[in-house]
Amino acid sequence: MVEQDNMDYLREEMRNITNNIIRLVQDRMEVAKKIGNIKHQLNIEIEDEKVENDIKKSVMDLTKDIGMDVEFSGRLLNLLLLESVKLQNIQNNNNNNKPTHIAVFMKAKELEKNGKKIIHLEVGEPDYPPPLKVKEELSKIYDNKKYHYTEIPGIPQLRQEISKKFSNLRSEQVLVTPGGRFAVFSAITSLLKPGDELINIEPSWPAYKECAEFIGAKTRLLKTTIEDKWTPNLKTLESLININTKMLILNYPNNPTGKVLDSNLIEKIVSIAKDHKLYILSDEVYSDYSFIKYNSILNYQYDKSIMVSSFSKTYGMTGFRVGYGIANNDIITKMRKVQATSITSVAEPMQYCALAALDNNMQSNIDSIKDRINIICKRLEQMNTEYIVPDGAMYVYPKIISQNYSSDISLVYDLLEKGVAIAPGSGFGNSYKQFIRISACQSSKLLNDGLDILQKYLA
Ligand code: PMP
Repeated sequence: MVEQDNMDYLREEMRNITNNIIRLVQDRMEVAKKIGNIKHQLNIEIEDEKVENDIKKSVMDLTKDIGMDVEFSGRLLNLLLLESVKLQNIQNNNNNNKPTHIAVFMKAKELEKNGKKIIHLEVGEPDYPPPLKVKEELSKIYDNKKYHYTEIPGIPQLRQEISKKFSNLRSEQVLVTPGGRFAVFSAITSLLKPGDELINIEPSWPAYKECAEFIGAKTRLLKTTIEDKWTPNLKTLESLININTKMLILNYPNNPTGKVLDSNLIEKIVSIAKDHKLYILSDEVYSDYSFIKYNSILNYQYDKSIMVSSFSKTYGMTGFRVGYGIANNDIITKMRKVQATSITSVAEPMQYCALAALDNNMQSNIDSIKDRINIICKRLEQMNTEYIVPDGAMYVYPKIISQNYSSDISLVYDLLEKGVAIAPGSGFGNSYKQFIRISACQSSKLLNDGLDILQKYLA
């Protein structure tokens, strides 16, 4: 009886504390709204890393003082920070209207429907077809009845052949996914919890941050600059790591800069990740387009690494949606759960097509992308731009220093009206409004025609 009374009392207390927490959270949101208003009036960025770090430090100090689990309080704080940012974004109409290369592509399609001719230098899609063996395989799929469910992680032959591309790899370490994008998604969503943090090096393909947002994880940005030749600073990297940091994203050859890191630097990055037990998600979908020596994360034998690759870029098979992730069994087991829950498996016909693609040599196509990158660079030399010659990938990411330039967004929309689609630099990070990304995925004739329009505009 006494226990029952005691329990009733404690439950009442629990309810009161919880209600108080909710009241305080609401007070916090009201203050966030007021700050959001001021940010709007002053036209300043919603997210401010310095301010967030200050709060984090004060919360961590308090947490230690009162003996609370620091990792848990850090995650709680991150959820609060993410919520305030979301609120301020909605309040300031910032949500989802930031134009990226996809927005430009959609707008270009709209103009094309109305009869306008557009040269597409905004999307990263090779203009060459998949190998002929893929065509042969496609034509046989129906008769050979290769149209069923398959093993969740992919058909054994494909996993086997992929594993043979890399030394010391077993096929169980390969998860075949619908595109590299899904390998990224399943890694981030299965390895991170809400409130965890990942570090993303900017400028960057936007999907990593979007995946993190999707599950309520927080992205910390490691910004790189053209002045540093897009090399990440290791001291800055270390300063971003705290008890909630769980993953570091690498993407080399990089979209959009074309940067490739040298092996020494990767070794140091791996060592930092090891010290802090961070996963390294290495997105290597452009590895075949490396024009200098390329070192995969798989060469560093780091057991918390996940390598992502794809058939999209190397084999011109973007629409087939086949990619893969490679990691240790533990990680693959977690990632395959996401796949099992959401898609069962990659479409069987597409897996056989990927298998047929694997034993083709794509070097001449890769060389032609490299030639086009050279064309872009030569042409940019005649314009008011600065750029780093890419070590790989399919893009050039110049900084515009022309007088005629106001912002990347108005520039790309003006250029669309004039017949060329180019990606705005800020789609790859808020700090890159002076940049644009030009894709090397069109014939040299179209490329030159598109660059003529850009040159004329900037002159
Ligand atoms: N990673 C990077 C860096 C990319 O640029 C892309 C495509 N733009 C992908 C992954 C995903 O490609 P897919 O899903 O077609 O394999």
